[in-house]
Amino acid sequence: MKRIVELLGNEKKTGPRPGRGHRGDDLKRLNTAAVMKHVFDHPGLSRSEVAAQLGLSAASVTAIASTLLEAGLLRTMPSPSGGQGRPRVPLEVDNQSTLVMGIHLGPRTTGVVLMGLDGVERASVLVPHPGIDPVASIEKIVLAAEALLAEHAGGKLVLGTGIATGGIVDRHAAVIIDNPGAGWQNVHVLDLLAGRLPGPVIVDNNARAAAQSELLYGHGQQSDDFVLMVITEDLGAVLVDDGRIRAGYSQTAGQIAHLRVSDEQVPCACGKFGCLAVMASDVVLAKNAIARGLKGVRHSDHVLELAEAGNGIALEVLAERNRYVGRVASQLIDIHDPELLVIAGTPAETPAVFADLVAEVARSAHGGASAAGRVVLSSDHIFSLSLFAGSTLVDAVLSDPLGVIGNTWSEVEREAVSH
Ligand SMILES: [Zn+2]
Repeated sequence: MKRIVELLGNEKKTGPRPGRGHRGDDLKRLNTAAVMKHVFDHPGLSRSEVAAQLGLSAASVTAIASTLLEAGLLRTMPSPSGGQGRPRVPLEVDNQSTLVMGIHLGPRTTGVVLMGLDGVERASVLVPHPGIDPVASIEKIVLAAEALLAEHAGGKLVLGTGIATGGIVDRHAAVIIDNPGAGWQNVHVLDLLAGRLPGPVIVDNNARAAAQSELLYGHGQQSDDFVLMVITEDLGAVLVDDGRIRAGYSQTAGQIAHLRVSDEQVPCACGKFGCLAVMASDVVLAKNAIARGLKGVRHSDHVLELAEAGNGIALEVLAERNRYVGRVASQLIDIHDPELLVIAGTPAETPAVFADLVAEVARSAHGGASAAGRVVLSSDHIFSLSLFAGSTLVDAVLSDPLGVIGNTWSEVEREAVSH
């Protein structure tokens, strides 16, 4: 089997990579990425501070900064008044001049969002496409995205598009290998898009996109070393190791759905019993609530609403689900020894029963209380898969700003393609 080579865009670079290639262009790209990422992580630094902290010359940081300022990726902040000598001009990421498009390809409904490099939504639209094949669905989504751009891009440079979906996705080939929820197999996304959305385009899976968002905007600001568990209708786990998202040899790492969490003889589609998938997904949550006699429940959202209102049965069903999630969390902590185990998805919307999850980790993990102390809720309490999708493109901008700018469409090109 061919080993898949990791490409730019999924790596965290904090400085020029030594000993690889000697071409000036490569070095310039890497140094530009290092400056961009450093200012993203540490807004308010001056050019000379960036140079000193990265070990680059002041002249090259000045040259890089002017390229990034001109591209609308960085901007200067007001100088602090007072002091002597040359004024110190702080830099920050320009969140106003550019936009990123994020698309969550859902099984029945797709979310399209325009967001800033700050990860905040500027405009969005939901596109329903239940039971429609991939070709017709993508056509519908592209039309909605074009309308969103026409109405809200407002002359800003759109840096590219990040797309995320459930199931197994080959990020490097931009192919949805298998999305069982949508019934999509071997969908070559770029072929279907035919260059109609702002490029470059990244295609990834939901769990890795969620981890990317957490890395850029959430717990990643404090830790480069965590496991993110996504608990929704889909279940997955992503290992972030030294700031890198580990996709796995065949890009299928983090399949936790069929880990056994119960001795109950609850059958799973995989042929086994008591898997996390049949004990703890959002669908199961709703089913369990109905089985316990909760009235009016048709969807897991209803269970969350009832829990919020203090309904005891809803809270107990959620607590029970959290205990199953806690069993898998324990195994992940014991195996990977991460600094943090971050829980994202619907458990983050019900902090009232989070203690049950943590208590289960204290009981089941070999690391006991120390392991339990590392379990945190995602800082993103709003689980927005389209924003997460967009964050994969933000990462590409930070990892290789010159490459992205070089691939970004101008308005002229977009006009040319759409006619
Ligand atoms: Zn199973």
